[in-house]
Amino acid sequence: MEDKRQNTEYASQPLDPEQMFAALIERLQNSAHSMDLERIRAAYALARDLHEGQKRKDGSPYLTHCVATADIAVDFGLDEDSIVAALLHDTIEDTSLTHEDIQKRFGVAVADIVDGVTKLTRVQYTSKEDEQMENLRKMLMAMAKDIRVILIKIADRLHNMRTMDYQSAEKQRSKSLETMEIYAPLAHRLGMQRAKWELEDLSLQYLDPTGYWEITNSLKEKMPQLEEFMSAVTQKIQQRLEREQLHATIFSRIKHVYSIYRKMYAQKLNLDGIFDLCAFRIIVDSIPDCYNVLGVIHDMFKPVPGRFKDYISTPKPNMYQSVHTTVIGSAGIPFEVQIRTWDMHHTAEYGIAAHWKYKMGDGGALLRTGDEDKFAWVRRLLESQQESDAQDFFHNLKIDMFADEVFVFSPKGDVINLPAGATPIDFAYAIHSDVGNRMVGASVNGRIVTFDHALQNGDIVEIRTSNASSGPSRDWLNIAASGSARTKIKQWFKKERREENIMRGRDMLMDELRHHGVTLDEVLDDEIMSPILKRLCYNSPDDLYAAIGYGGMTAARAANRLRDELARIAKNEEKNAIDKIAQAAERREQEAAKQGSRAVRGILVAGLDNCLVKFSRCCTPVPGDDIIGFITRGQGVSIHRRDCENYRNRAHDPETEGRWITVSWAGEISERYLTSLTLYAKDRTALVLDIATALNSLNAKVRSLNARDDGGAAQIYITLEVNNAAELRFIMSKLAQIPGVSEVSRNNG
Ligand code: MN
Repeated sequence: MEDKRQNTEYASQPLDPEQMFAALIERLQNSAHSMDLERIRAAYALARDLHEGQKRKDGSPYLTHCVATADIAVDFGLDEDSIVAALLHDTIEDTSLTHEDIQKRFGVAVADIVDGVTKLTRVQYTSKEDEQMENLRKMLMAMAKDIRVILIKIADRLHNMRTMDYQSAEKQRSKSLETMEIYAPLAHRLGMQRAKWELEDLSLQYLDPTGYWEITNSLKEKMPQLEEFMSAVTQKIQQRLEREQLHATIFSRIKHVYSIYRKMYAQKLNLDGIFDLCAFRIIVDSIPDCYNVLGVIHDMFKPVPGRFKDYISTPKPNMYQSVHTTVIGSAGIPFEVQIRTWDMHHTAEYGIAAHWKYKMGDGGALLRTGDEDKFAWVRRLLESQQESDAQDFFHNLKIDMFADEVFVFSPKGDVINLPAGATPIDFAYAIHSDVGNRMVGASVNGRIVTFDHALQNGDIVEIRTSNASSGPSRDWLNIAASGSARTKIKQWFKKERREENIMRGRDMLMDELRHHGVTLDEVLDDEIMSPILKRLCYNSPDDLYAAIGYGGMTAARAANRLRDELARIAKNEEKNAIDKIAQAAERREQEAAKQGSRAVRGILVAGLDNCLVKFSRCCTPVPGDDIIGFITRGQGVSIHRRDCENYRNRAHDPETEGRWITVSWAGEISERYLTSLTLYAKDRTALVLDIATALNSLNAKVRSLNARDDGGAAQIYITLEVNNAAELRFIMSKLAQIPGVSEVSRNNG
């Protein structure tokens, strides 16, 4: 029952290459396109001589494969150069022929195509994850440069798959997997539906023979029914379309095995559960007819909701156009109908290759290689790729496809995608930062190369690493072509040199702060450093120093931020301190007001009892000071210090003669006396804060505090209450110790 040979549509090929080639020539003679048959015969003759004696696994001459591949190229509608190249496609790989030889006899285009196919043939695949498969497909496209290389490679693969029966089971499996994962998707991308279906079915046959034959045999059993059904439906539609005077050709088919297989697995059904086995294709002459036919079909059969798709108004990314609908036939069996024009049909069958057909159809002129405009339509096609899985497939496409990318292999067979001009350095860092950082040597295709060696598509790159490596060199930043490699190299310098960078950065920051009159210790305060680190996104002061040391942050910027923060906080504190002083002063004023001005003030005036006493504003004496009294006009006795300027200037003035009188402090004094001080200091951040803080800590009763900045020199006026001169001196000595304060003096005139 399981006679594979009979079940395989293409198995019964003639094995005589001469016969096969004669048939090919006949096909070409009968085709509408004129080709130089002598050139094709010459290619055949050369291939025959070169492959002389070589046999295929089935025992037939190797040449049969070359002719069959050329025959498929004709099926695809490829041009004369492609057919010549198809005949010669294995000569560089399997014989002594060189690119130069081919170029001499058949021109550079054919030589390049054969060379391209050879390169693709040499690529070794191992089964990988999806992402790797996508990279492999890209790599093939990139290596191909000319789309005809891919098309001939697909033809080559198709013939090999058709004749896979004689290969070992292992080879059948691995080639089928490769076909399923690489070549069928490529055919799909290129819109070559027929080739795709066949590649899928042939692969399935080896990958899951049980599944494949189950479906094939069940279909065979159902065939009489299915055929009856298909011919009944075809007839019915045909008659109706004739009545409507619509000219159309109807094809019916059973869906391809792999599509049924996938559906069975996706929906967990057996074949009986899948109704949708038949498909009909109605081909018409014009786009309006497509929609007219669609109307008729929907009138005849009940459409299944949600299954109508209009790929005419919105073509698929691979240029596929048709309208699709699924309807329910008389017996309740659903079937799909595709309606399209002949043009659309060719595109659907042959995809990208159909363009040669059209081009050749236009006056028989062959598509010329080297034509700038050669790629225009390929580009349009590829750029219109919108399927999510293919979204990035052809991005950055240039006239010379993928000119800005290069695909190379790791020794394990992974495909690594790098920017054009990439070097072993880029490769090493693409594998892993650690590989890059420890790289000491590189080889390409087994040969040792320098680090600036430019990698080519398909190169196998190997990196030698050493734990003793001292890390990347700064030059590598100029050699690497990829941003990611450069970033990783910079990261290394950042990390490896951390201690060094911290020290350097710290010094740089200290220097910079010094210009602002700030010390590092001042800004290391948590209140200042933490918010700045947070804002600049560093975790620790060391991180900040390291960044400065490395150059990721300038010392000036960090210093400015820190200084501003310091000033901001100082200002707040200053304001708080001054507010506190002001509040205390106010409170005391209120108390003083309550008590009135009585009991002035511990002063004994010689010869006078209980006279009115007040303290001069100019020198504000306090107990312990050497004092003298001055009899004012109507305002009692004013008390001055003996060292007051006013006294000294006027002591011997005739006008004041007799008015200066001796006064002295009473024995016990409980009051406080208001006095004033002036501080001279170099202005700096937080000076006033420090003064206010000192006064607070001395418990000094400050009445007011005013600062005046005079071009870097500050003068601070303080009024305060003290018990006596000793306390005042103590306060003054403390104030004099505040950094930046150059002088503290009492006001005396
Ligand atoms: Mn081959």
